[in-house]
Amino acid sequence: MGGRSLLDKVWDAHSVRELPSGQTQLFIGLHLIHEVTSPQAFAALREAGLRARHPERTFATVDHIIPTDSQRRPLADPMAEAMLVELERSAAQSGIRFFGPESGHQGIVHVIGPELGLTQPGMTIACGDSHTSTHGAFGAVAFGIGTSQVRDVLATQCLAVARPRVRRIDVGGKLAAGVYAKDVILTVIRRLGVKGGIGFAYEYGGAAIEAMTLEERMTVCNMSIEGGARVGYVNPDDATFAYLRGREMAPQGAAFERAVAWWRSMASDGDASYADRVRFDGAAIAPTVTFGINPGQSVGVDESIPRLSEVPDDERPALAEALAFMELRAGAPLAGTRIDVAFIGSCTNGRISDLREAARVARHGKVAPGVRTFVVPGSQAVQRQAEAEGLPAVFRAAGFDWREPGCSMCLAMNPDRLQGRELCASSSNRNFKGRQGSPTGRTLLMSPAMVAAAAIRGKVVDVREIL
Ligand code: SF4
Repeated sequence: MGGRSLLDKVWDAHSVRELPSGQTQLFIGLHLIHEVTSPQAFAALREAGLRARHPERTFATVDHIIPTDSQRRPLADPMAEAMLVELERSAAQSGIRFFGPESGHQGIVHVIGPELGLTQPGMTIACGDSHTSTHGAFGAVAFGIGTSQVRDVLATQCLAVARPRVRRIDVGGKLAAGVYAKDVILTVIRRLGVKGGIGFAYEYGGAAIEAMTLEERMTVCNMSIEGGARVGYVNPDDATFAYLRGREMAPQGAAFERAVAWWRSMASDGDASYADRVRFDGAAIAPTVTFGINPGQSVGVDESIPRLSEVPDDERPALAEALAFMELRAGAPLAGTRIDVAFIGSCTNGRISDLREAARVARHGKVAPGVRTFVVPGSQAVQRQAEAEGLPAVFRAAGFDWREPGCSMCLAMNPDRLQGRELCASSSNRNFKGRQGSPTGRTLLMSPAMVAAAAIRGKVVDVREIL
């Protein structure tokens, strides 16, 4: 019998029992909640006369609705303020720690979990947000869940969930300069499709993944869900342990050393067997940009937008719809496409290393006339670190708008929104119609460095021409 994967080890360690439905009742080690999916869950809990089962395993923050121009209380939007107060109250009543705007730890839920050391290898993690897969970068099995499941996890600390099969994705070789984790995951989704991962957990490995920092691994795991995989993870290694050492909520002292021994044991065995295995050559990946209305519709920045005749029959309707919505021409180069807005931020690419790379590009020019910009740190901790490094001054000198932390224009549940048909170069994770606040607004996904390059040239360009 072959070895076991991390997914199998974590699953078996957290399995309470097999359910008649074929699902597993899985114990959840860490539950992260935020203001959008938790109010109904808390209300349901109160109606049922139940209390949060493990408040010490539950942590709350505010990210989607928080404005990024001023977070002074009360918030300018009364509805946003009411949602914030509601979460504050529910968390306090339940004994759940809340990282609000006054805490110094507020931020996007998938940014603050890792930076506080809450996210750890071998854990099961749940959060009422699709991009919970981010936490898999640490070797955790992390699920995005819906509101009714948030209620279930609050009440029982368990989740009824089907065990996924594991697809191993090896990215070999070394990424070229100007090519980032975002380009890797966009390339993976382009090849395997936006539905290709349904029923799978993606285990990422290979030289290019192993060489990545934890922040880069988070970018890759974050977008697993865009490829249909609810879970994506990287096996924990020395880089993982070094990242966690000394973090506020990570084990300390001798307990940390004991934890490392256990974390190491949770990594997939060398002879683990997988349901499927796919290989990519990291050295062949170019800066990648989406041209369509799902994250699988992308090309290398030096490629042309595909013609209908160049894609399989079953992909033609989606391609035709994408080209019509985006007003882009099949066969034309994507480079040179004019943009109206540049957004740098989100749980995919709003961490300090993302801002550093974007600032490196911003030093090479000024924002092109007419381009609106948003540079939004993923958390207050990222904001403080950026300030300590002088990054806001770099961005401002280049004409970028430096903001307060939050989800901002990723989902536009706050005042940061596209207007009309604006075309946005965005470091976020979804380019669906209407995703950024305007039903007719258009999104091109790319790395933060590529967004900064597009902002200063006013059009899609290959960042390697600038760096
Ligand atoms: S940044 Fe976007 S994807 Fe991430 S948690 Fe916020 S809204 Fe969701």
